[in-house]
Amino acid sequence: MKTIGLIGGMSWESTAEYYRILNETVRDRLGGLHSARIVMVSVDFAEIEAMQLEARWDDAGEALAAAARQLEAAGAECVLICTNTMHRVADVVQASVSIPLLHLADTTAALIVRQLPALHTVGLLGTAFTMEQAFYRERLEDAGFTVLIPNDDDRQVIHRVIYDELCLGVVREESRAAYYRVMDALVDAGAECIILGCTEIELLVDPDQSWRVPLFPTSRIHAQAAVEWALEESE
Ligand code: GLU
Repeated sequence: MKTIGLIGGMSWESTAEYYRILNETVRDRLGGLHSARIVMVSVDFAEIEAMQLEARWDDAGEALAAAARQLEAAGAECVLICTNTMHRVADVVQASVSIPLLHLADTTAALIVRQLPALHTVGLLGTAFTMEQAFYRERLEDAGFTVLIPNDDDRQVIHRVIYDELCLGVVREESRAAYYRVMDALVDAGAECIILGCTEIELLVDPDQSWRVPLFPTSRIHAQAAVEWALEESE
C-alpha cells in the first residue's frame, strides 16, 4: 500500500471526512485492522482564505507548494489537495514535487464517465471561485461535459453557506433547503447530475439520499480514488 499525502485544513471540517473515508475504504478493501498510510500537512485556513479574497493566487500556490514539498519529504507518494477551490493552484503544486497530484476534478469526471457514460450535462455547486473561474470547469469540459452553474444570486447563497457555516461546522436546515432549491433550478435547466464541488457540501446534502438526479460528492470521490491508487499493484 502506498502512502497518501494530504494538504488539509481547507477546511478541517472536510479534511476530517477525508481521514475517515480513507481509513474506512482501506478497511473495507483489505479487512481486519488495515488502515490507510497517510501523511498530512494541515494549513491555517484563515491565511489561505485571505489570499483567496485578495486574489493572491501566487502566494497561495507557494504556500501549498511548500506543503506538498513537506509531504514528499515525509514519505508521501502522492498529493491530494483536499479542497476543490485550491485546485486553482494545482499546476504550481504539481510542479513543485516529483510525486503525482491526484486532481479532484479529473477523478470526479472519471467516476461520472464510468458510472453514467451517456451523461452530458453536469450541474456544479462550489465556492464562487470554483463555479465562476475556468480552472475547474475546464477540466470537466475537457472530459466532455457541459457545465451548468447557478445564477448570480444563487451562487452567492451557495458560497456564503460554505464559508459562514459549513467551514465552521454549522449545518442549518434552512441552508439545506436553499441548496436543494438551487439544485432543483439546475436540474430544471438541464443538469443530469449535480457535482457537490466543494468538499464541505456533503456535510449538508446527503449524497446517499436518492434525489431527482445523481449527486457526486467530491470529498468521498477523491478519497476513494486515492485508495484505489494506493492499492494498485500492491494486492
Ligand atoms: N473546501 C472547499 C472546496 O472544496 C472550500 C474551502 C476552500 O476555499 O478551500 O472548495
